Amino acid sequence: MKQFKEVLHSGYQQTLEITKVLFESKTEHQHLVIFENPVFGRVMALDGIIQTTEKDEFIYHEMLVHVPMFAHGNIKDVLIIGGGDGGILREVLRHQTINSACLVEIDAAVIDLCQTYFPLHSKGAFSHPKAEITIQDGCAFVKNTPKKYDLIICDSTDPIGPGESLFTAEFYRDCKSILNDDGIMVTQNGVLYFQMEEAKNTYTFFTQLYKDVGFYRAAIPSYVGGDMAFGWASDNTHHRKTTLSLIQKRFYEAKVKTKYYTPELHFSAFALPQYVIDALPANTRTSAICEHVS
Ligand code: SAM
Repeated sequence: MKQFKEVLHSGYQQTLEITKVLFESKTEHQHLVIFENPVFGRVMALDGIIQTTEKDEFIYHEMLVHVPMFAHGNIKDVLIIGGGDGGILREVLRHQTINSACLVEIDAAVIDLCQTYFPLHSKGAFSHPKAEITIQDGCAFVKNTPKKYDLIICDSTDPIGPGESLFTAEFYRDCKSILNDDGIMVTQNGVLYFQMEEAKNTYTFFTQLYKDVGFYRAAIPSYVGGDMAFGWASDNTHHRKTTLSLIQKRFYEAKVKTKYYTPELHFSAFALPQYVIDALPANTRTSAICEHVS
């Protein structure tokens, strides 16, 4: 039996049975493989790291999009860095209230192959009239775009290969300069138990740039090791403390049908385990602790 071995964390790995390899190649930027697995359905990995699977993608894509969307309540222009599989773009475009969703992906092959092998990820999102697709390094884009955004979603690979530059102070600074004053930035920030250093780095950079910084969590089965962290940054200190009743009202009015996201999960996702709070720089821990207004 052929197996896919993911070695993202030293000393610990996961293997997935490969029932069939559907595509494998070295693109201009990274090694890409798409294979069938009895548990997760189709799986895509980049540079040996699982990016997305047919069966559990909804958890990650719904949480990375709907938490900032319903916390803010009036997002019009969205920037997605990475996201070549189309799942984030699909979820953003389900909000009728947005004006534009700009996706900046470094590797055109990921978009092309995911439209072929994971059609339900994008569901036509790449050709939606509100979607603007740019093939470029996200680092260069945020340095040069004249536009400003209400929400920036960094849906990147891990800080390996082309994704490395999306975890730097320079990138976060450039993102801040194109984020509207009331805007929110959220990031894919790894599995907390194994990638705490990445989370601490992002947190440290964000606390130098924003008034309100924290994480929220969701466990995605194929991102092995427990809760994944989503980085949160905004100069509006109220967004993260939006009341449950207001989140419920916005969710109901948006008429977005979800499989994972609920307003109650949104509300509880910001609560962090003590070991995570203790790992953050002491002088900024209060920011990460989210006291919701009742
Ligand atoms: N959900 C996945 C995760 O949590 O790891 C991420 C999925 S998405 C496929 C990640 C995308 O980021 C890939 O398509 C990759 O090509 C893209 N990417 C990596 N580095 C990039 C960069 N510097 N600029 C733009 N896109 C980048």
